[in-house]
Amino acid sequence: MSEVLNVEEIFGQNVFTLGKMKERLPKSVYKEVKTVMDKGGELSLAAADVAAKAMKDWAVENGATHYTHWFQPLTGITAEKHDSFVSHPDESGKMIMEFSGKELIKGEPDASSFPSGGLRATFEARGYTAWDITSPAFLKEDATGVILCIPTAFCSYKGEALDKKTPLLRSMEAVSEQAVRIVRLFGNTEATKVVASVGPEQEYFLVDREKYLKRPDLIFAGRTLFGAPAPKGQEMEDHYFGTIRERIGAYMKDLNIELWKLGVTAKTQHNEVAPAQHELAPIYETANIAVDHNQLVMETMKKVAGRHGLTCLLHEKPFAGVNGSGKHNNWSLTTDNGVNLLDPGDTPNENIQFLLVLACIIKAVDVHADLLRQSASDVGNDHRLGANEAPPAIISMFLGEQLEDVVKQLVETGEASRCLEGGKLMTGVSTLPDLAKDATDRNRTSPFAFTGNKFEFRMVGSSDSIASPNTTLNAIVAEAFCEAADILEKADDFDVAVHDLIKKYLTDHQRIIFNGNGYSDEWVAEAERRGLPNIKSMIEAVDTLTTDKAVKLFERFGIFTEAELESRAEVLYETYAKSINIEALTMIDMASKQYIPAVVKYTKSLADTVIAVKEAGADASAQADLLKDVSEKLTAMKAALVKLEEAEAKASAITDAKEQAFFYKDVVKAAMDELRAPVDAAEMLVDKKVWPVPTYGDLIFEV
Ligand code: ADP
Ligand code: MG
Repeated sequence: MSEVLNVEEIFGQNVFTLGKMKERLPKSVYKEVKTVMDKGGELSLAAADVAAKAMKDWAVENGATHYTHWFQPLTGITAEKHDSFVSHPDESGKMIMEFSGKELIKGEPDASSFPSGGLRATFEARGYTAWDITSPAFLKEDATGVILCIPTAFCSYKGEALDKKTPLLRSMEAVSEQAVRIVRLFGNTEATKVVASVGPEQEYFLVDREKYLKRPDLIFAGRTLFGAPAPKGQEMEDHYFGTIRERIGAYMKDLNIELWKLGVTAKTQHNEVAPAQHELAPIYETANIAVDHNQLVMETMKKVAGRHGLTCLLHEKPFAGVNGSGKHNNWSLTTDNGVNLLDPGDTPNENIQFLLVLACIIKAVDVHADLLRQSASDVGNDHRLGANEAPPAIISMFLGEQLEDVVKQLVETGEASRCLEGGKLMTGVSTLPDLAKDATDRNRTSPFAFTGNKFEFRMVGSSDSIASPNTTLNAIVAEAFCEAADILEKADDFDVAVHDLIKKYLTDHQRIIFNGNGYSDEWVAEAERRGLPNIKSMIEAVDTLTTDKAVKLFERFGIFTEAELESRAEVLYETYAKSINIEALTMIDMASKQYIPAVVKYTKSLADTVIAVKEAGADASAQADLLKDVSEKLTAMKAALVKLEEAEAKASAITDAKEQAFFYKDVVKAAMDELRAPVDAAEMLVDKKVWPVPTYGDLIFEV
């Protein structure tokens, strides 16, 4: 038997939890911290000093030597700069580890090298990190030692957000404030805030590290840029939920332990659809902490993989021809007195508060479908959304039979008098129990699906931060709540007014509801008839951030200023151009230095063989045919390589960020496809022994 793992003991071991604060802080300071955490406001410097000392003592007891303000710049990943607790030694040369309240609350990294989209010129390099007291500090433990990480927001000298956390926190406050107005209308006087909860399901691939290191495309671009399909793909459906192989299982076990120590509630693990693809889902938590934890999940996945001779690929589409990876973002709203606003109860048709909330969300998603689409876009996700893979780029909502029926009744007659029931599922086997059945089946193809007591936004990319999707969701729902509350708070007869408003919203916005197959061509045509946006790529979605509608929404709730939105748009164009540039350069590199030389050598050996066989008086036609085929591919490779080099040079010379991004999308990407085709075709002809890199078969079937 292996050693018994005490999960209860290790859970949260590396987190400065509320419990630890309570133990270590004087009562008055603890109370102050807790008040700021729950209600906002600012911590006094005296309290911050005490909190900092307690935090440092705990960290040092656990081996920490450094602390860092841990933040989330617009690169989409996290950033850290370590400072040790070392202070100036006294006369005798003795040094005492120190950490002050000031250092806890505020940091000042040189911000000039982070993307700011023009918000900050390099000579105005000042940026500040500010302690986010709502997300607990934690210890990162690895070869660097033990580092105390303090989650922080990152802003410019003028207070503009330079990160993903600041707008998220702003959006959480906005949706809370407006949602409280809604529950007040229904007589809830106790709730003081409404919390957005998020549970992200994270998909990922694992490949063997040795093989990974032989693929420059995986190293530089995170995805394969070349590669003929293996003889087998995912068609046997034998990987999804399949038995987890020992090597992968050992990885998952280690990963869980690391995550539990960090207070991440790693809950579900399974094999996913594509070979070498897996998933991990934690239990949902407050949006802000869920975003931080998802960053830690991604980072820990990569780190732990290294220890097992594996590499974790978080790219949305590491391999052509098999499924890519996404992140289902489960989202709901709950009052601080425990009411989930998205819980329909047993009879949703009678639950007026739920129906109003639902109607508001339907309206929000319809009005801002473009923004939601944008929030889930990144460079890698272009290979999924709107390409030949799920989910589609068109936003629609799936409500399920039960709710759809209620909506239909309301739209048609203004009343919903009946409600479909779940009933029992008969197993037909006397020894098996009959199961209580949900009133609604699942729909796997919908990008935005109601799943019981939450919405599941399925468009998000696997490598992306979930901050933007949740900021957008909170913002658009805050707006819908606000508009509804403005009307209903003034109503003379609330019952009539709420009834009319629900009917109006559902009638006006029912076009966004779609319960059918989201992958079908018919849906694309139908969506167009309904006037729903179908934004096919990341950069085509960027403009949605700066429309009058978007600026009005975000400014009204103090989530983004117009300047912040414009800067983000700029960063997105730049990121896109840079990413495709790296992919193009990697392809040029691999084709020039690996594929073409390998094929040249192979044609030489074939030519030698043809001559030798002929000289020996035998039939060399098979060899000669093969030589002809391979040489043709080689000629095509060389021609396509030249074209790609030309396109890349032109692209690099463009100075306008938007124009450049579109040139990469329309011209460079096409040239990349043209180079890939003959290389992949040659791979099918050339002796595997001389092929310079591991193949798809090696990478995804031999992990
Ligand atoms: P499935 O794959 O069937 O969709 P999983 O159990 O893998 O379901 O993941 C569901 C995710 O949704 C989990 O992270 C779970 O904690 C989260 N979740 C459950 N209820 C809520 C809720 N009310 N609000 C937000 N997230 C939720
Ligand atoms: Mg799911």
